[in-house]
Amino acid sequence: MIQVAIIGCGVVGASIAYELSKIEDLEITLIEQNTPASGSTGAALGVLMGAISHKTKSRAWRLREVSLKRYQTLLPELEALTGITIPVNRQGIVKLLFTGDRLEKWQKLQQTRHNQGWQLEIWDKNYLHQQCPDLTHKDIIAAVYSPQDRQINPSSLTEALVAGAQKNGVNCQFGVKVAKFITQTANNSNLQTCSHLQTTKGELAVDWLILSAGLGSTPLTTSLQQSVDIRPVLGQALKLKLDRDLGNRDFQPVITGDDIHIVPLGNREYWLGATVEFPDEWGKVDAKAKLLEQITQQAIDFCPALADGKIEATWFGKRPRPQGQPAPIIGKLDGYSNVLLATGHYRNGVLLAPATAQEVKDLVLLI
Ligand SMILES: Cc1cc2nc3c(=O)[nH]c(=O)nc-3n(C[C@H](O)[C@H](O)[C@H](O)COP(=O)(O)OP(=O)(O)OC[C@H]3O[C@@H](n4cnc5c(N)ncnc54)[C@H](O)[C@@H]3O)c2cc1C
Repeated sequence: MIQVAIIGCGVVGASIAYELSKIEDLEITLIEQNTPASGSTGAALGVLMGAISHKTKSRAWRLREVSLKRYQTLLPELEALTGITIPVNRQGIVKLLFTGDRLEKWQKLQQTRHNQGWQLEIWDKNYLHQQCPDLTHKDIIAAVYSPQDRQINPSSLTEALVAGAQKNGVNCQFGVKVAKFITQTANNSNLQTCSHLQTTKGELAVDWLILSAGLGSTPLTTSLQQSVDIRPVLGQALKLKLDRDLGNRDFQPVITGDDIHIVPLGNREYWLGATVEFPDEWGKVDAKAKLLEQITQQAIDFCPALADGKIEATWFGKRPRPQGQPAPIIGKLDGYSNVLLATGHYRNGVLLAPATAQEVKDLVLLI
C-alpha cells in the first residue's frame, strides 16, 4: 500500500481525502490540529462565484469549470454515501450593477459563457424589481443573474467529505498537529523526499505528503526549508434574522453587490459579508469592528429591509492568500519529489476545492 498523509482538514484537505479515498492501493491519513473546518473554511459563506466570475480563460476558468461540474455530481454522491444533508442554495446568484458599471462588459461575458455552455441573464431595473422587490437603491442600473451558480454550507460540506472519506477507509487524526518532517535525498536525484512526519501523536511513514494546511502551510514549508509565503486576509461576517423573507419567498437567490454577499439560509435568516482586511507588513491583521459596520451599512443602502434585522452572530476568519503567485497553489513543492501543495485558495477555496482535489488526484496517479 502507498502511504499518503494529508495535513489540514479544511474544505480543501477534506476534498482531497475524499477523492483519493476512491483510488485502490492508497492508505490515507488525514491530519488536523483542531477539528474539521475550524480554519478559514468555518468562516466562509460558501458562495460559488463560477459562471458569474470574470475569469474566462486558461487555468483560472478551467479550475472553476471543473469545480462547477464536479459539484453537480459530488453533492448527491456524498449525500447518498453518508446520509448527511448538505444545505445548498440552487436558486443562483444575482449580482447588482450600479451607476458606473459597464453593461457592455457583462454582455460580453454573457456571450462568452453562452459559447462555453453556461447561462447568464442580464436584467433591467424593472425586471430586477419584480424578481427582488427589496433591492431598491437609486444607483442600481441592472443586474446579472447566474442561475447555475450555487451556495453551499462549507462546514456541512466538509463534514460530509470527511464522513465519505472515512467510509472509504481514510484514517482521520483530529486534534493532532504535525510539527516536523524527516527527509532524505532520493537516490540518483537532487530532489529530497519526505519519509516521515512527526506529529503530537507520534511518527508516521509517508510515500506522499499533501500540504493543505491553509495559513499553516507557511510554517510547514519553512520546516521543509522551502518556505511558501501565505498571508492572512481577514474577513468578518454576520448572521441576521429578519421578521419576514426578503423579496419573494419562493425566489431566494444569493444577492451580491459592492462585493458584499447576502446569503439566504431559510427561516428568515441571512448571512451577510464579508470584509476584506489586509495584514500589516509583519503579516498581522486584527478584525476592525468599524469595517463590519461599514459593509452592513452598504448592504442596507441597497437592501433597506436588512435594517430591521436582529444580529444573531458575528465572526471572522482569515483567508490564506499566496504572496507573489496566483491563488491557489497546486503542485509539487520545489526541491521535493513526494510533497504536493494544495493551498493558498484565498477567496475561493470552497469554489475551487473539487477542482483542486481532481488536480491532486491526477498528480498522484501520474507520478
Ligand atoms: C469570511 C470569509 C468568507 C469566505 N467566503 C467564501 C465564499 O463565499 N466562497 C469561497 O469559495 N471561499 C470563501 N472564503 C475563502 C475560503 O474560506 C478559503 O479559501 C478556504 O476555506 C480555504 O480552505 P483550506 O482547506 O485551504 O484552509 P483552512 O480551512 O484554513 O484549513 C486548513 C486547516 O489546516 C489545519 N492545520 C494548519 N497547520 C496544521 C498542522 N501543522 N498540523 C495539522 N493541521 C494543521 C488548520 O487547523 C486548518 O483547519 C471565505 C473566507 C472567509 C474568511
